[in-house]
Amino acid sequence: MPDLSAWENSVKSNTKLFLLENPSNPLGEIVDILRLSEISKKHGILLAVDNAILTPALQTPLALGADIVIHSATKYIDGQGRCLAGAVLGGEEIIEQIASFTRTTGPALSAFNAWIVLKGLDTLSLRMKAHSANAMRLAVWLDGQKSVKKVHYLGLKSHPFHQIAKSQQSDFGGIVAFEVADKIAAFKLINSVKILSITANLGDTKSTITHPATTTHGRLTDAERAAANINSGLIRVSVGLESIDDIIADIAQALV
Ligand SMILES: *Cc1c(COP(=O)(O)O)cnc(C)c1O
Repeated sequence: MPDLSAWENSVKSNTKLFLLENPSNPLGEIVDILRLSEISKKHGILLAVDNAILTPALQTPLALGADIVIHSATKYIDGQGRCLAGAVLGGEEIIEQIASFTRTTGPALSAFNAWIVLKGLDTLSLRMKAHSANAMRLAVWLDGQKSVKKVHYLGLKSHPFHQIAKSQQSDFGGIVAFEVADKIAAFKLINSVKILSITANLGDTKSTITHPATTTHGRLTDAERAAANINSGLIRVSVGLESIDDIIADIAQALV
């Protein structure tokens, strides 16, 4: 929900937390975090930002006024599709409460998975730069294809949130979404790629391709999907670290 007045208007007397995925998966909708944090502070509400798509290498919501930041470390922080992990960041008072909850209820990382995530962190900023550069190349190429109706990538000037993205993140990340004619065209393309893997995961060194309407957003009603702008011709690519020429050639042969 990029419209800030809609956030403010939705505040009720018992509202405790604003939670946003920023950018959203897969369309890259974003909110001006600093301005939203002013609204949340005015109403005494905590602001939590899911930063899984950009990671701390490209965006630091705590510095923009957020109270809590959530990461699926399963994605870019491990970055190589090897384990499930997550992280919650925030002030001492908040983290103490979360730590006591995780200590007594079980969602704690094994030592081996913690080691894997730490190895991933070593290369995070380098990988995010490379994911962003590859994604930009793919987005620009897709934008020039006749059978592609629309490309959603924050790095394109045509993206409605390009200017806000430039003001609060240092690059545009690895997720590119684009629309083809309909579900049949989308399935045909997805089933024809040879290098990209078909999976709902994202943030791997390997490029992956997904049909959001039937996977990540498959449990929504038609009306909810329409409200979220997820149409049946939409395809999401999590652009990996392979040679981008190979990825573009793979999608090109699948697009015809
Ligand atoms: C995958 C994902 C999650 C869930 O993470 P898990 O590690 O699978 O629990 C949450 N937010 C975003 C933006 C994600 O991409």
